[in-house]
Amino acid sequence: MQLEALDVSKTFRSRRTAAPVHAVRNATLTARPGQFVAIVGESGSGKSTLARLLLDLLEPTEGSVRLDGREVGSMDRAGKRAYRRSVQAVLQDPAGSLNPRKRVSRAIGEVIRLQGMARTPAETRRRVSEVLELVGMAPAGDYLDRFPHELSGGQRQRVLIARAIALDPRIIVADEAVSALDASVKAGVLAVMADLKDRLGVGYVFITHDLPVVAKVADHVY
Ligand code: ADP
Ligand code: MG
Repeated sequence: MQLEALDVSKTFRSRRTAAPVHAVRNATLTARPGQFVAIVGESGSGKSTLARLLLDLLEPTEGSVRLDGREVGSMDRAGKRAYRRSVQAVLQDPAGSLNPRKRVSRAIGEVIRLQGMARTPAETRRRVSEVLELVGMAPAGDYLDRFPHELSGGQRQRVLIARAIALDPRIIVADEAVSALDASVKAGVLAVMADLKDRLGVGYVFITHDLPVVAKVADHVY
């Protein structure tokens, strides 16, 4: 499998002046399962826009995003649904990524049920426990009933990774997924991601403004 951006550009219109903002210009990249690809750039260089293009949350102004050669923009509903499952997002934690009112079991369990990955509540709970343990939150029973505010920043990021992993994605697009964390916590979360790459064969498009962070784990840096 391969996910590609082919000569992708995205131009916004400035809300204030209506002048064009070239957020992404002619970006080309390839990501594959089992590979850790990093995209590094300074703030404002278009990284999050590129992430949203790869996740099919934005449409390119020019160029295309393709999965195995098929343009994502022209996929039918079933195709997009499959795409949304095989290419998952892990974003920086602040508000929005985790609902403060949902316990960990529900935050992860709901996406599992919604995607039809489990049939019964017991099956869902088993799968939630399994993915929590995969991201190093073991025993899962210690975390299932917690709310996001009862977790550390690093644990919340792990929950987001667990939730992405629960859908068996082939590629995870991670936008500044560890940027807000302290150095040692950051290293722990990165180690989990590298471990999942080896154990599950998942690939990453890992987006960061912080080159030293990825120098150690990346197979390829853009
Ligand atoms: P990064 O993630 O690298 O910091 P972004 O992709 O968020 O960069 O932003 C790239 C540029 O595009 C910035 O100049 C930003 O202000 C602009 N931009 C991003 N989203 C929009 C939008 N929806 N409308 C107008 N301009 C935008
Ligand atoms: Mg950004």
